[in-house]
Amino acid sequence: MIKRSQCRICASPDLEAVLDLGEQPLANAFLARAELGQPSPGYPLEFCRCANCGHAQLSVTVAPEVLFRNYPYLSGTSETIAAHFAAYARDLAERFLPQPACVVEIGSNDGTLLRAFDQRTTRVLGIEPARNVVAIARTRGIETVDEFFDERLARALASSFGRADAIIANNVVPHIDDLAGLVRGVEALLAPTGVFVAEFPYVIDLLEQVEYDTIYHEHLSYFSVRAAMRLFAQVGLGLFDVRHVEVHGGSLRVFVGRDRPPQASVARLLRLEEEFGLHSSASFRAFAAKARQQRDALRALLADLKAAGERIAGYGAAAKGNTLLNFCGIDASVLEYIVDLNPLKQGLYTPGSHIPVREPQALLADRPEYTLLLAWNFADEILRQQEEYRRLGGRFIIPIPLPSVV
Ligand code: SAH
Ligand code: ZN
Repeated sequence: MIKRSQCRICASPDLEAVLDLGEQPLANAFLARAELGQPSPGYPLEFCRCANCGHAQLSVTVAPEVLFRNYPYLSGTSETIAAHFAAYARDLAERFLPQPACVVEIGSNDGTLLRAFDQRTTRVLGIEPARNVVAIARTRGIETVDEFFDERLARALASSFGRADAIIANNVVPHIDDLAGLVRGVEALLAPTGVFVAEFPYVIDLLEQVEYDTIYHEHLSYFSVRAAMRLFAQVGLGLFDVRHVEVHGGSLRVFVGRDRPPQASVARLLRLEEEFGLHSSASFRAFAAKARQQRDALRALLADLKAAGERIAGYGAAAKGNTLLNFCGIDASVLEYIVDLNPLKQGLYTPGSHIPVREPQALLADRPEYTLLLAWNFADEILRQQEEYRRLGGRFIIPIPLPSVV
């Protein structure tokens, strides 16, 4: 782990602390039963903002080799994400791709997005460091390089694979510490008329909906449109279109290229950021106060339910769930177990809180009175899937922006 002494975008040394979430284990470091007795390392989790350019970021960087070589998140586990990526691929193909086309995806995970392109007209290449996840993508026929994307790899690919008509990067730009290297790599690999398209959670949604649980060591940056523009401008690339999309609690999809006139969407969101007060530290301080209120309200609600003899489980052994559990001090004495669709997590225990992870069918079989929805970003999908449990009286607690029972 290294402590950052400079802003990841503007290199200013002036990083101001906004919210200290304490020492936390790595959010995806699920434990086997035999590991429960062993001490597990904690790393400071501190959300900061750059006093110079306003970019929100963590104060430390955990080595990517530790975080990403073996990775438990699979994009294809959620129907919501699979459908979102299918529409995403169609949209990109229609708007930007020549025929034939060449598409590279950074952080391609299990290949869910690349598979949605028409393989007869589009040559696709994934770049994904998680070896266990690459194995899954390859069995699905998606050619994948098992490396971290950086400038060196980008230059090598530009000569071996050729330059890309589209480079896509979803939920991975925030994971990269060396942002300058990333954008130099994108610049080198992108065909002259190519587009770089990226999606990542929007910092305004994080602040507004009090999604403090999306803060964990994998997420080094929390972007605004303004910060993203500033980053791409470093290599002469322009952010020419942006969309606000619903996934993961509210995300931005940015479109970046060379010599394309900016569309009205860009000015509109820049204005919104200004009006929100995103560029002042007051909006960040207000968020930190709300995060503490949310924690206190959730702890009080769960304590009342326990005192009344109710049984409580959790839904979604998500990385974000672990930030919430560890910040709120919720452990196996409060949540008996957590269910999750992902077979890579079932049978393991949550880091820090040591709560066992079971399969989703457990809820209906066991019928705890309450279930804390840790994966609130998939609320619609999960509530639909658990219709029967709910019909029989099971209730869900949605923690954000303030805990509510449905
Ligand atoms: N794009 C997918 C997966 C996001 S999870 C989606 O949106 O659902 C982040 C992924 O990025 C993980 O699979 C992780 O292994 C990968 N990753 C992390 N750092 C990377 C890097 N430098 N280059 C390429 N992939 C990276
Ligand atoms: Zn800065």
